[in-house]
Amino acid sequence: MSRTGLWDSHAHLDSDYFTDDREELISKLQQDLDGIVNPGCDEATSAFAVELAEKYDFIYAAVGWHPEELKGIPADYLDKLAAWAVHPKVVAIGEVGLDYYWKENEPKEVQKRIFLEQIDLAKQFDLPVIIHDRDAHGDMLEIFQKEVSGVRAVFHCFSGSLEMAKELVKRGYYFGFGGTSTYKNAQKVREVMSYIPRELLLFETDSPYLTPVPYRGKRNNPGYLELTARNAAEVLGVPFEELAEQTTKNVKALFTKIK
Ligand SMILES: [Zn+2]
Repeated sequence: MSRTGLWDSHAHLDSDYFTDDREELISKLQQDLDGIVNPGCDEATSAFAVELAEKYDFIYAAVGWHPEELKGIPADYLDKLAAWAVHPKVVAIGEVGLDYYWKENEPKEVQKRIFLEQIDLAKQFDLPVIIHDRDAHGDMLEIFQKEVSGVRAVFHCFSGSLEMAKELVKRGYYFGFGGTSTYKNAQKVREVMSYIPRELLLFETDSPYLTPVPYRGKRNNPGYLELTARNAAEVLGVPFEELAEQTTKNVKALFTKIK
């Protein structure tokens, strides 16, 4: 693959799935992509994300506690986040949010409290928030309609309805689209993607998950981002290069620490 001009706005290169070939993969990705944002999901993965960002110029980190990782969250987790937040390569708080899919996750009220606390911290440090929303669309929308304002955010791998998207677009939030937008049965996702103003659109892989067609079912990696972006260019009827340029602008508008 040649240089794409793309940014992967969401990849977990810290994942165990990359233990065997991480360095080799990253040196290849350095040829293809302009940059990668690697969100953490708990203390260890946030620390690893920062480590990767320190080691590689084109990798940036986000730090946060994912809604699936709230059991045993340290009492001083906000202090830990605050310490990371001032790091020049920590560009966002995330990934954070609500996940009502897994029954073993913490109760909704606990998830909401920790989510809101992390949003507050992001605002305090003028950082954007990377949001995970799985089967929690109603509560998520309500939070952004009634409780939260004045923060930049991206809804990663957005899976909400067109109606929800319209409400979020009104408030200027960003939307990340990944491999799922290439799936045959994901007409709804493509419909939403077509509605989103170009200046609020981001691409992502969510590596190692959600691998785009034709590699669905295999391990995802940021090298497959081009498949998602080319598919989107076709869906939206926009030249690929134009979309790459626009989404790169968007990454820098959202993650303002990236120059
Ligand atoms: Zn993720």
